[in-house]
Amino acid sequence: MTIDLRSDTVTKPSKGMLEAMLKADVGDDVYKEDPTVNALEERVADMFGKPQALFFPSGSMANQAAIKLHTRPGEQLICDKYAHVFNYEGGGASFNSGVSCKLIDGTRGMFTADQVKQSINPPDFYHSPFTRLVAVENTTNKGGGACWDIEEIKRIKNVCTLNKLGFHLDGARLWNALVAKNEKPKQYGDLFETISVCFSKGLGSPIGSILTGDEALMEGAIRVRKIFGGGMRQVGYLAAAALYALDHNVERLLEDHQKAAELADVLQQLPFIKTVEPTETNIIIFELVPELSEIEFCDKLDKAGIKIISMGSNKLRMVTHLDYTDEMHAHLMKILGSLYF
Ligand SMILES: *Cc1c(COP(=O)(O)O)cnc(C)c1O
Repeated sequence: MTIDLRSDTVTKPSKGMLEAMLKADVGDDVYKEDPTVNALEERVADMFGKPQALFFPSGSMANQAAIKLHTRPGEQLICDKYAHVFNYEGGGASFNSGVSCKLIDGTRGMFTADQVKQSINPPDFYHSPFTRLVAVENTTNKGGGACWDIEEIKRIKNVCTLNKLGFHLDGARLWNALVAKNEKPKQYGDLFETISVCFSKGLGSPIGSILTGDEALMEGAIRVRKIFGGGMRQVGYLAAAALYALDHNVERLLEDHQKAAELADVLQQLPFIKTVEPTETNIIIFELVPELSEIEFCDKLDKAGIKIISMGSNKLRMVTHLDYTDEMHAHLMKILGSLYF
Protein backbone atom coordinates (compact mmCIF):
# COMPACT_ATOMS: atom_id res chain seq x y z
CA MET A 1 0.00 0.00 0.00
CA THR A 2 1.33 3.44 -0.95
CA ILE A 3 0.12 6.32 1.18
CA ASP A 4 0.79 9.74 -0.32
CA LEU A 5 0.44 12.54 2.21
CA ARG A 6 2.70 15.07 0.48
CA SER A 7 -0.26 17.28 -0.38
CA ASP A 8 -4.02 17.29 -0.85
CA THR A 9 -3.34 18.07 -4.52
CA VAL A 10 -2.39 14.43 -5.24
CA THR A 11 -6.02 13.27 -5.41
CA LYS A 12 -7.42 11.85 -8.64
CA PRO A 13 -10.95 12.53 -9.88
CA SER A 14 -13.43 9.95 -8.55
CA LYS A 15 -15.73 7.91 -10.78
CA GLY A 16 -18.65 10.16 -9.91
CA MET A 17 -16.64 13.25 -10.75
CA LEU A 18 -15.46 11.79 -14.07
CA GLU A 19 -19.04 10.93 -14.97
CA ALA A 20 -20.14 14.49 -14.20
CA MET A 21 -17.30 15.77 -16.39
CA LEU A 22 -18.31 13.53 -19.30
CA LYS A 23 -21.86 14.79 -19.16
CA ALA A 24 -20.91 18.48 -19.14
CA ASP A 25 -22.50 20.81 -21.63
CA VAL A 26 -19.64 22.90 -23.09
CA GLY A 27 -18.90 25.88 -25.34
CA ASP A 28 -16.10 28.31 -26.05
CA ASP A 29 -15.37 29.97 -22.72
CA VAL A 30 -13.18 32.66 -24.27
CA TYR A 31 -16.43 33.85 -25.88
CA LYS A 32 -18.12 33.25 -22.49
CA GLU A 33 -20.25 30.58 -24.21
CA ASP A 34 -19.54 27.65 -21.95
CA PRO A 35 -22.75 27.06 -19.97
CA THR A 36 -21.05 24.91 -17.32
CA VAL A 37 -18.31 27.46 -16.65
CA ASN A 38 -20.94 30.21 -16.51
CA ALA A 39 -22.97 28.14 -14.03
CA LEU A 40 -19.94 27.58 -11.82
CA GLU A 41 -19.00 31.27 -11.87
CA GLU A 42 -22.53 32.27 -11.00
CA ARG A 43 -22.78 29.72 -8.21
CA VAL A 44 -19.53 30.78 -6.55
CA ALA A 45 -20.32 34.50 -6.92
CA ASP A 46 -23.69 33.82 -5.23
CA MET A 47 -22.09 31.81 -2.43
CA PHE A 48 -19.88 34.76 -1.55
CA GLY A 49 -22.51 37.39 -2.26
CA LYS A 50 -20.35 38.92 -4.99
CA PRO A 51 -21.56 40.27 -8.35
CA GLN A 52 -18.89 38.53 -10.43
CA ALA A 53 -16.64 35.49 -10.64
CA LEU A 54 -14.17 34.15 -13.18
CA PHE A 55 -12.78 30.64 -13.70
CA PHE A 56 -8.98 30.24 -13.69
CA PRO A 57 -6.73 27.26 -14.36
CA SER A 58 -4.88 27.64 -11.07
CA GLY A 59 -4.99 29.33 -7.70
CA SER A 60 -1.71 31.03 -8.46
CA MET A 61 -3.12 32.62 -11.59
CA ALA A 62 -6.26 33.74 -9.74
CA ASN A 63 -4.15 35.33 -6.98
CA GLN A 64 -1.79 36.93 -9.48
CA ALA A 65 -4.71 38.35 -11.44
CA ALA A 66 -6.10 39.79 -8.20
CA ILE A 67 -2.77 41.46 -7.40
CA LYS A 68 -2.67 42.86 -10.94
CA LEU A 69 -6.20 44.24 -10.60
CA HIS A 70 -5.52 45.92 -7.25
CA THR A 71 -2.12 47.46 -7.94
CA ARG A 72 0.08 49.44 -10.28
CA PRO A 73 3.83 48.87 -10.87
CA GLY A 74 6.01 50.26 -8.08
CA GLU A 75 3.38 49.83 -5.41
CA GLN A 76 3.51 47.49 -2.45
CA LEU A 77 1.34 44.79 -0.99
CA ILE A 78 1.31 43.64 2.61
CA CYS A 79 1.27 39.92 3.41
CA ASP A 80 2.63 37.45 5.92
CA LYS A 81 6.19 36.13 5.52
CA TYR A 82 4.66 32.66 4.97
CA ALA A 83 2.21 33.86 2.29
CA HIS A 84 1.71 31.69 -0.78
CA VAL A 85 1.56 34.82 -2.96
CA PHE A 86 5.09 35.67 -1.81
CA ASN A 87 6.72 32.24 -1.43
CA TYR A 88 5.13 29.87 -3.90
CA GLU A 89 4.01 31.79 -6.96
CA GLY A 90 7.40 32.10 -8.59
CA GLY A 91 7.89 35.75 -7.70
CA GLY A 92 4.76 36.55 -9.70
CA ALA A 93 3.91 39.68 -7.71
CA SER A 94 7.07 41.36 -9.00
CA PHE A 95 7.10 39.62 -12.40
CA ASN A 96 3.47 40.21 -13.34
CA SER A 97 2.57 43.35 -11.46
CA GLY A 98 5.89 45.03 -10.64
CA VAL A 99 4.97 45.27 -6.98
CA SER A 100 7.00 44.48 -3.88
CA CYS A 101 5.80 42.68 -0.77
CA LYS A 102 6.10 44.06 2.75
CA LEU A 103 6.30 40.94 4.87
CA ILE A 104 4.69 40.74 8.28
CA ASP A 105 6.34 38.51 10.86
CA GLY A 106 3.11 36.82 11.85
CA THR A 107 2.14 33.66 13.71
CA ARG A 108 1.54 30.54 11.62
CA GLY A 109 0.88 32.75 8.60
CA MET A 110 -1.57 35.06 10.40
CA PHE A 111 -1.15 38.64 11.58
CA THR A 112 -2.99 41.38 13.44
CA ALA A 113 -4.59 44.67 12.46
CA ASP A 114 -1.88 46.47 14.47
CA GLN A 115 0.82 44.77 12.45
CA VAL A 116 -0.90 45.88 9.25
CA LYS A 117 -1.09 49.47 10.54
CA GLN A 118 2.64 49.44 11.26
CA SER A 119 3.40 48.12 7.76
CA ILE A 120 1.68 50.91 5.83
CA ASN A 121 4.03 53.46 4.30
CA PRO A 122 2.78 57.04 4.75
CA PRO A 123 1.10 57.81 1.41
CA ASP A 124 2.73 61.25 1.04
CA PHE A 125 6.24 59.91 1.81
CA TYR A 126 7.27 59.45 -1.82
CA HIS A 127 10.59 57.77 -0.95
CA SER A 128 8.76 54.57 -0.05
CA PRO A 129 6.58 52.39 -2.21
CA PHE A 130 2.92 53.26 -2.11
CA THR A 131 1.05 50.70 -0.01
CA ARG A 132 -1.95 49.50 -1.99
CA LEU A 133 -3.12 46.06 -0.94
CA VAL A 134 -3.35 43.64 1.98
CA ALA A 135 -3.48 39.90 1.25
CA VAL A 136 -4.74 37.38 3.81
CA GLU A 137 -4.50 33.59 3.41
CA ASN A 138 -7.08 31.30 5.03
CA THR A 139 -6.28 28.57 5.88
CA THR A 140 -2.57 29.22 5.83
CA ASN A 141 -0.60 26.69 3.83
CA LYS A 142 2.94 27.14 5.20
CA GLY A 143 1.34 28.02 8.54
CA GLY A 144 0.04 24.45 8.83
CA GLY A 145 -3.61 24.86 7.87
CA ALA A 146 -4.25 27.45 10.58
CA CYS A 147 -7.65 29.18 10.56
CA TRP A 148 -7.99 32.90 11.13
CA ASP A 149 -10.16 34.46 13.79
CA ILE A 150 -12.70 36.29 11.63
CA GLU A 151 -12.86 39.10 14.22
CA GLU A 152 -9.21 39.92 13.51
CA ILE A 153 -9.98 39.95 9.78
CA LYS A 154 -12.75 42.49 10.50
CA ARG A 155 -10.26 44.70 12.35
CA ILE A 156 -7.85 44.44 9.40
CA LYS A 157 -10.69 45.32 7.04
CA ASN A 158 -11.24 48.51 9.05
CA VAL A 159 -7.57 49.40 8.70
CA CYS A 160 -7.84 48.81 4.95
CA THR A 161 -10.94 50.98 4.65
CA LEU A 162 -9.38 53.81 6.66
CA ASN A 163 -6.20 53.71 4.59
CA LYS A 164 -7.86 53.05 1.21
CA LEU A 165 -6.10 49.70 0.78
CA GLY A 166 -7.41 46.83 -1.31
CA PHE A 167 -8.20 43.62 0.55
CA HIS A 168 -7.64 40.22 -1.07
CA LEU A 169 -8.26 36.76 0.35
CA ASP A 170 -6.16 33.87 -0.89
CA GLY A 171 -8.82 31.32 -0.11
CA ALA A 172 -7.25 28.37 -1.89
CA ARG A 173 -7.92 26.44 1.32
CA LEU A 174 -10.89 28.48 2.52
CA TRP A 175 -13.19 25.44 2.30
CA ASN A 176 -11.20 23.85 5.10
CA ALA A 177 -11.58 26.94 7.27
CA LEU A 178 -15.32 27.19 6.55
CA VAL A 179 -16.04 23.66 7.74
CA ALA A 180 -13.58 23.79 10.65
CA LYS A 181 -15.00 27.04 12.02
CA ASN A 182 -18.57 26.51 10.84
CA GLU A 183 -18.51 29.77 8.89
CA LYS A 184 -20.34 30.82 5.73
CA PRO A 185 -18.75 32.07 2.49
CA LYS A 186 -20.83 35.27 2.68
CA GLN A 187 -19.04 36.26 5.89
CA TYR A 188 -15.86 36.43 3.80
CA GLY A 189 -17.60 37.98 0.81
CA ASP A 190 -18.66 40.83 3.08
CA LEU A 191 -15.07 41.53 4.15
CA PHE A 192 -12.91 41.12 1.06
CA GLU A 193 -12.98 42.88 -2.30
CA THR A 194 -11.53 39.86 -4.09
CA ILE A 195 -11.39 36.20 -3.09
CA SER A 196 -9.69 33.27 -4.81
CA VAL A 197 -10.74 29.70 -4.11
CA CYS A 198 -9.34 26.37 -5.38
CA PHE A 199 -11.11 23.17 -6.38
CA SER A 200 -7.94 21.15 -6.82
CA LYS A 201 -6.89 20.89 -3.15
CA GLY A 202 -9.21 19.38 -0.57
CA LEU A 203 -12.14 19.31 -2.98
CA GLY A 204 -10.48 16.75 -5.23
CA SER A 205 -10.88 18.32 -8.69
CA PRO A 206 -8.04 17.88 -11.17
CA ILE A 207 -7.74 21.62 -11.85
CA GLY A 208 -9.55 24.88 -11.36
CA SER A 209 -9.92 28.03 -9.31
CA ILE A 210 -12.29 30.94 -9.14
CA LEU A 211 -11.64 34.60 -8.51
CA THR A 212 -14.72 36.38 -7.27
CA GLY A 213 -15.05 40.03 -6.36
CA ASP A 214 -16.62 43.42 -6.65
CA GLU A 215 -17.74 44.82 -9.98
CA ALA A 216 -15.19 47.60 -10.36
CA LEU A 217 -12.20 45.30 -9.80
CA MET A 218 -13.52 42.30 -11.70
CA GLU A 219 -14.23 44.39 -14.76
CA GLY A 220 -10.63 44.00 -15.88
CA ALA A 221 -10.27 40.38 -14.75
CA ILE A 222 -11.07 38.71 -18.06
CA ARG A 223 -8.49 40.86 -19.85
CA VAL A 224 -5.82 40.08 -17.24
CA ARG A 225 -6.64 36.36 -17.48
CA LYS A 226 -6.20 36.55 -21.26
CA ILE A 227 -2.86 38.35 -20.87
CA PHE A 228 -1.68 35.66 -18.42
CA GLY A 229 -2.59 32.99 -20.99
CA GLY A 230 -5.48 31.70 -18.94
CA GLY A 231 -8.26 32.06 -21.51
CA MET A 232 -9.48 28.51 -22.15
CA ARG A 233 -12.03 27.05 -24.53
CA GLN A 234 -14.33 24.07 -23.77
CA VAL A 235 -13.44 23.99 -20.10
CA GLY A 236 -16.95 23.16 -18.98
CA TYR A 237 -15.53 19.66 -18.45
CA LEU A 238 -13.34 21.10 -15.71
CA ALA A 239 -16.03 23.38 -14.32
CA ALA A 240 -18.24 20.27 -14.07
CA ALA A 241 -15.61 18.70 -11.81
CA ALA A 242 -15.65 21.83 -9.63
CA LEU A 243 -19.47 21.81 -9.44
CA TYR A 244 -19.38 18.15 -8.49
CA ALA A 245 -16.76 18.94 -5.83
CA LEU A 246 -18.95 21.68 -4.34
CA ASP A 247 -21.88 19.24 -4.14
CA HIS A 248 -20.00 16.27 -2.71
CA ASN A 249 -16.66 17.16 -1.24
CA VAL A 250 -17.00 20.19 1.04
CA GLU A 251 -18.67 18.82 4.18
CA ARG A 252 -16.51 15.71 4.11
CA LEU A 253 -13.40 17.83 4.70
CA LEU A 254 -14.21 17.30 8.38
CA GLU A 255 -13.14 13.67 7.93
CA ASP A 256 -9.72 14.83 6.70
CA HIS A 257 -9.47 17.15 9.71
CA GLN A 258 -10.39 14.33 12.09
CA LYS A 259 -7.74 12.04 10.62
CA ALA A 260 -5.15 14.81 10.77
CA ALA A 261 -5.93 15.42 14.45
CA GLU A 262 -5.50 11.71 15.16
CA LEU A 263 -2.17 11.60 13.34
CA ALA A 264 -1.02 14.69 15.24
CA ASP A 265 -1.90 12.96 18.53
CA VAL A 266 0.19 9.91 17.69
CA LEU A 267 3.12 12.03 16.48
CA GLN A 268 2.99 14.07 19.67
CA GLN A 269 3.71 10.95 21.72
CA LEU A 270 6.82 9.89 19.80
CA PRO A 271 10.07 10.61 21.64
CA PHE A 272 11.96 11.67 18.49
CA ILE A 273 9.41 14.31 17.59
CA LYS A 274 10.11 17.63 19.25
CA THR A 275 6.91 19.51 18.50
CA VAL A 276 3.72 19.11 16.55
CA GLU A 277 2.13 22.38 15.52
CA PRO A 278 -1.53 22.88 16.37
CA THR A 279 -3.50 20.86 13.82
CA GLU A 280 -6.76 22.67 13.07
CA THR A 281 -7.51 21.35 9.60
CA ASN A 282 -5.83 18.81 7.29
CA ILE A 283 -2.19 19.89 7.50
CA ILE A 284 0.17 18.51 10.13
CA ILE A 285 3.54 20.17 10.56
CA PHE A 286 5.97 18.64 13.02
CA GLU A 287 9.59 19.04 13.95
CA LEU A 288 12.07 16.25 14.67
CA VAL A 289 14.51 16.34 17.56
CA PRO A 290 17.88 17.68 16.33
CA GLU A 291 19.55 14.25 16.66
CA LEU A 292 17.29 12.76 14.02
CA SER A 293 17.63 13.96 10.43
CA GLU A 294 14.71 14.51 8.07
CA ILE A 295 16.43 12.25 5.55
CA GLU A 296 16.64 9.32 7.94
CA PHE A 297 13.04 9.81 9.06
CA CYS A 298 11.65 10.14 5.53
CA ASP A 299 13.71 7.16 4.31
CA LYS A 300 12.15 4.90 6.89
CA LEU A 301 8.64 6.07 6.05
CA ASP A 302 9.39 5.76 2.35
CA LYS A 303 10.39 2.11 2.79
CA ALA A 304 7.00 1.58 4.42
CA GLY A 305 5.32 3.17 1.35
CA ILE A 306 4.55 6.47 3.03
CA LYS A 307 5.33 9.72 1.26
CA ILE A 308 5.50 13.01 3.14
CA ILE A 309 7.41 16.22 2.47
CA SER A 310 10.18 18.10 4.16
CA MET A 311 9.75 21.80 4.91
CA GLY A 312 13.38 22.47 5.86
CA SER A 313 14.70 23.25 9.40
CA ASN A 314 13.98 19.61 10.44
CA LYS A 315 10.26 20.22 9.90
CA LEU A 316 8.03 17.84 8.00
CA ARG A 317 4.51 18.01 6.65
CA MET A 318 1.67 15.56 6.17
CA VAL A 319 -1.61 16.49 4.50
CA THR A 320 -4.74 14.35 4.70
CA HIS A 321 -7.14 14.28 1.75
CA LEU A 322 -10.00 12.67 -0.16
CA ASP A 323 -7.92 9.73 -1.40
CA TYR A 324 -6.48 8.96 2.05
CA THR A 325 -8.87 6.19 3.02
CA ASP A 326 -9.93 4.84 6.43
CA GLU A 327 -7.90 1.74 5.64
CA MET A 328 -4.77 3.78 4.90
CA HIS A 329 -5.37 5.77 8.06
CA ALA A 330 -5.60 2.66 10.26
CA HIS A 331 -2.44 1.30 8.62
CA LEU A 332 -0.49 4.55 9.06
CA MET A 333 -1.58 5.00 12.68
CA LYS A 334 -0.18 1.53 13.40
CA ILE A 335 3.09 2.22 11.57
CA LEU A 336 3.64 5.54 13.34
CA GLY A 337 2.87 4.01 16.71
CA SER A 338 5.58 1.38 16.26
CA LEU A 339 8.21 3.64 14.70
CA TYR A 340 11.62 3.71 16.38
CA PHE A 341 15.07 5.19 15.72
C1 LIG B 1 -2.30 25.76 -3.39
C2 LIG B 1 -2.43 27.14 -2.99
C3 LIG B 1 -2.53 28.17 -3.94
C4 LIG B 1 -2.58 27.98 -5.44
O1 LIG B 1 -1.93 26.92 -5.93
P1 LIG B 1 -2.04 26.41 -7.43
O2 LIG B 1 -1.23 25.18 -7.39
O3 LIG B 1 -1.52 27.47 -8.30
O4 LIG B 1 -3.50 26.14 -7.72
C5 LIG B 1 -2.62 29.46 -3.48
N1 LIG B 1 -2.64 29.73 -2.17
C6 LIG B 1 -2.58 28.77 -1.24
C7 LIG B 1 -2.64 29.14 0.20
C8 LIG B 1 -2.48 27.43 -1.60
O5 LIG B 1 -2.45 26.49 -0.66
